Amino acid sequence: MVKILTLALAASSLSWSASPQAPALNAAERAVTGRISASRLRARLSFLASDALQGRDTPSPGLDVAAEYIASEFRRAGLEPGGNDGYFQTASMVQLTPNKEGFSLKLEYQGRSVEAGPDGASLSLASGLSLTAAPVFKLDLADPSSFAAVKPTDLDGRVVIAQAPHRGLKGIQAAFHLLSDAKPTLLLLVGESEMLGSGERLVDASPDSASARQATPRVAVHSPALSALFDSLPPGAGTATVTLTAPEPLKTPFTLRNVVAVLRGSDPALKSTYVMVTAHYDHIGMKKSGEGDRIYNGANDDGSGTVSVVELAQALAAARPRPRRSLVFMTFFGEEKGELGSRYYAAHPLFPLARTVADLNLEQVGRTDSTDGPQVGTASLTGFGYSTLSDILVKAGKLTGVKVYRNAEASDAYFSRSDNQKLADAGIPAHTLCVAFDYPDYHGLGDEWQKVDYSNMARVDRAVAVALMMVADDPATPRWNPKNSHTARYLKAFEQLHGGQP
Ligand SMILES: [Zn+2]
Repeated sequence: MVKILTLALAASSLSWSASPQAPALNAAERAVTGRISASRLRARLSFLASDALQGRDTPSPGLDVAAEYIASEFRRAGLEPGGNDGYFQTASMVQLTPNKEGFSLKLEYQGRSVEAGPDGASLSLASGLSLTAAPVFKLDLADPSSFAAVKPTDLDGRVVIAQAPHRGLKGIQAAFHLLSDAKPTLLLLVGESEMLGSGERLVDASPDSASARQATPRVAVHSPALSALFDSLPPGAGTATVTLTAPEPLKTPFTLRNVVAVLRGSDPALKSTYVMVTAHYDHIGMKKSGEGDRIYNGANDDGSGTVSVVELAQALAAARPRPRRSLVFMTFFGEEKGELGSRYYAAHPLFPLARTVADLNLEQVGRTDSTDGPQVGTASLTGFGYSTLSDILVKAGKLTGVKVYRNAEASDAYFSRSDNQKLADAGIPAHTLCVAFDYPDYHGLGDEWQKVDYSNMARVDRAVAVALMMVADDPATPRWNPKNSHTARYLKAFEQLHGGQP
């Protein structure tokens, strides 16, 4: 999953008990679940999360090896290739690397002026930028009430200046929401931050892509003199101005790949509709320097989801009869760099989005040592209750001995933190299923394959297999829940996708 600044997790207090007369699996479900093997999951993950793949960074040779491995397993299962290049959906991306040479900035207010150069500056820009005495709008993240009445349009065409985010600033979330609907010329962050990266980022290079054009240019500067002048500015639109020169970034092209296989449905009508099961096969690569182990193996995040997709693919490929709808098995690149692979897929779908009835995304399904306490025989869905997929997973879990529950603290908060979000944005009922939202080695060097509970992972994958078969065989499609207060935008997207038919 994607890392964010604040994590607020607590144990769920839901209780659950098995129904007195547990219903049984049908013959096809028994055969499919019988083909899911803990030892094979272990073998798969010990390779995918091995040091040889060097943390599967996007882009990296290790990621390419992982893609070839996943494709080879789809090939062995006899599945139809679903990409534009065999099992691969090739994505032309461009890496933007800031060019700090020649960068200069001047903040002026009431006759005072502070200048800053490349030292201590972090740039995130899609193209060069030059501003002369541009008007400033101060967002004081320490005091969210100071901008509670501000509208997104108040920020349009201005340089928004704010504190660089760090723990303890109360207004980060509110500012994020405000900025997501605004069109400022530049976002200028002042001060030290634990969140500032190198400014490098990957964007979709296709000519029709909006991602490169729409992102707000962002500059962060760590300078005590600048921070002092920032502190003296009144909140809102004042008389301060910014003059800035930022050179064009360096652009390096890369080809990245989603890995895709299809199991054609058996029903003459329903086979042109699709059920997706997805996971991200990338992780965060290697630590730049230091002694000893520097490889972020990402066994649980999200090697576990990836090998589960592969295992489900081979188990379902042999289903007789085949499921009625077509099943799409897909692993995404670049989730850790901002859900790049799923974003790319939603912008360039291989199967019509309007005929894609659901996406079940798998994340962190291997480790049971959650920071919430041990999670054996349990699984949780993000956005639990947003769509009828929740009910289907609960039902499939009851048939396979997995308690599928709503984690009160994490369920809604984590909905946007994985690849399901990009498909939900397109209107498709899409959730992420996980076992542990947070665990001791999350994004750490110790996330290694030896720490995974394989028999539990197989159990959870069996529940997922049964849920996929239920969705694939049911002529009724999963629906967003109109009674849930978080689903309005997804319902709207669903209606747009289906030509106004709710
Ligand atoms: Zn992840």
